[in-house]
Amino acid sequence: MDILMVVPEMVPYAKTGGLADVAGALPPALANGKDKVSAIMPCYRGIEKKFKPAATGVTVTVPILEGDRLIAKKAQVLSAALANRVTVYFVKMDEYFDREALYTPPGGDYPDNCARFTFFCRAALEFMKAKKWRPDVVHCHDWQAALVPIYLKTVYKDDPALAGIHSVFTIHNLGYQGIFWHWDMKLIGLPWEYFNVNCLEYFGRINLLKGALVFADKITTVSRGYAREIQGPELGYGLDGVLKSRSADLAGIVNGIDYQVWDPAIDPALPARYSVKDLSGKALAKAGLQREFKLPEKPAVPIIASISRLTDQKGFDLIASILDDMMKQDMQFVLLGTGEKMYQEIFENAGVKYAGKAGVKIAFNDALAHRIEAGADMFLMPSMYEPCGLNQLISLKYGTVPVVRATGGLDDTIASWDPATKTGNGFKFHDYTAEALGKTLKEALFAYRRPDEWKKIVRNGMMEDHSWKASAREYRSVYNSIVAKG
Ligand code: ADP
Repeated sequence: MDILMVVPEMVPYAKTGGLADVAGALPPALANGKDKVSAIMPCYRGIEKKFKPAATGVTVTVPILEGDRLIAKKAQVLSAALANRVTVYFVKMDEYFDREALYTPPGGDYPDNCARFTFFCRAALEFMKAKKWRPDVVHCHDWQAALVPIYLKTVYKDDPALAGIHSVFTIHNLGYQGIFWHWDMKLIGLPWEYFNVNCLEYFGRINLLKGALVFADKITTVSRGYAREIQGPELGYGLDGVLKSRSADLAGIVNGIDYQVWDPAIDPALPARYSVKDLSGKALAKAGLQREFKLPEKPAVPIIASISRLTDQKGFDLIASILDDMMKQDMQFVLLGTGEKMYQEIFENAGVKYAGKAGVKIAFNDALAHRIEAGADMFLMPSMYEPCGLNQLISLKYGTVPVVRATGGLDDTIASWDPATKTGNGFKFHDYTAEALGKTLKEALFAYRRPDEWKKIVRNGMMEDHSWKASAREYRSVYNSIVAKG
């Protein structure tokens, strides 16, 4: 099978969150089988200098509205080989993509995000045309790629070069939908007949993700739990009706982890490698982390860590509420994150107030994320909702016990420790309350003080396999099901 992924971000080229990890890991996992897999993404600032992609010789032209004038804007397409015979194409268009941030510089989204990703989606389709390339499936990820399934069934539906190409759309986070004012219908170039509640309209505005949910041949999301939850009003973000109407075409496929990138046995970012057979390297990582965050170097004091976007979604209001109580206990807290200003301030202040007990770094730092995963004892993820969550899966591999709220992928992948049966890989609570989080954290701290019990929990997690193998097989069967339909 020939599959093209349309992605707004991808490891190792550009990353703001878990989608980039998925986009970087799923294509090689699929290409390890019989399938040919390619990906296309914008050529953001820094990619050319760092990765030196080659010219493909293809330049695409995309009509795009500027004011009232339709202007033909051009992009060059570059290419690079990712590991495992996966080709990645880059849409190079400096006006839109040579910028400080991917989508959201400090202060808010780029005002022309609709134009930027309209351009990207059309450029991807024009590139396929230019190459006379008809992939069996075009697999699009999140709102930034949503116009591809929409265009295939509208603007390009009678174009012999692209007509009939199948699309799969994956929701990585329903909280981000690509909502724009209604006049952008002209910008995206769709006739007004598609501006109705059964297509792109959403409370008087355009909703690109909604359009993809209507037009894609199949829809997937990143865990079974989340696939269920988004069909209900609480987590459906206003799209539960559309999702329910497509439930026969909606599948939940849990994300895997790229163990080439996230494995303490080979991780070059750590002071020493370790595995479930010999955890001495983890003790070194812990001492290193305590030094790095100016915390007393005490091997017996548990480090509770969080690495995250600082948003409401991730449960930082709960963490903020229990912080004072947490600090009274025999533990250390390490936080790495960026995000909402309010949370940055709360936790920066906490780092000052509880110096020597809490270490806070407001930054996006990949190497530090690896060192924290290795050096910490517990990983805190009390999310309000969590489509899949990668950090709890990474934590399991690094022997860092997840403390999570039972939602979406967290509920699917974390089982509460049961001392009677000695089963479970973490600690889990249900109610979205500070009390429930505080109580569960105390249970985890209690278990930590019983070294034999703790070793077993750590071991249970480290022995699990969350690689991409099984999930890639499930994606392949989704592709097969639509191709077989014809
Ligand atoms: P989401 O995609 O919702 O942000 P996930 O748990 O699915 O959450 O994936 C988050 C990914 O981003 C993980 O690989 C995590 O380590 C990484 N990450 C998040 N914040 C930071 C940060 N401040 N520095 C480094 N890596 C981060």
